[in-house]
Amino acid sequence: MNKVYIALGSNIAPRFNYLYRAIDILQQHEDIEVAKQSSVYETDPVGYTDQEQFLNMVIELETTLEPIALLNVCQSIERKLGRKRDIRWGPRTIDLDILLYNQTSIVNDRLVVPHRRLHERAFVLIPLAEIHPSLYIESLEQSISELVGQLPLQDKEGVVKCQPTEGVRESKPFGS
Ligand code: ATP
Ligand code: MG
Ligand code: MG
Repeated sequence: MNKVYIALGSNIAPRFNYLYRAIDILQQHEDIEVAKQSSVYETDPVGYTDQEQFLNMVIELETTLEPIALLNVCQSIERKLGRKRDIRWGPRTIDLDILLYNQTSIVNDRLVVPHRRLHERAFVLIPLAEIHPSLYIESLEQSISELVGQLPLQDKEGVVKCQPTEGVRESKPFGS
């Protein structure tokens, strides 16, 4: 069984619904088991900053799918949930990025794992540290908690755990 970490992000309403719809669809796949999920964090946009706040979280999967097959599943969920690609790092209903696939290193046209920007993103490392702080990344020769320790304070301050009630307040029937 392969152990995989996936980062989810949304900054188009209803953000909580998009995150949980994506997790539901993954869980329904017969070759995927969602083993752990982090809290949801509200985060400042990074890269392209003139846009709404994001919700981000990280999940741990167990899967028999090979990396490209898993990427295909992730991209089909993005399409199903209305993801459009206009602006690089711009607003999105849902983004599903494969962070880690066991300790495998992959570099090809469609997939780079570990994710290229994993080590520098507070909105990914903080939720990942919540579910597996001791996880060691061989290619970076560092653990997740060490990587979090190296983040600039300002980046960490832009990542705030949401209260569970916020999801209830924000959520509407999907599609409304
Ligand atoms: P970033 O990758 O910086 O978070 P993004 O998630 O907004 O940016 P997307 O538009 O979702 O970028 O994806 C662009 C391309 O990245 C996809 O076509 C996909 O093939 C490729 N890609 C490369 N590595 C990965 C990965 N580890 N997980 C998901 N997509 C990846
Ligand atoms: Mg992304
Ligand atoms: Mg992506």
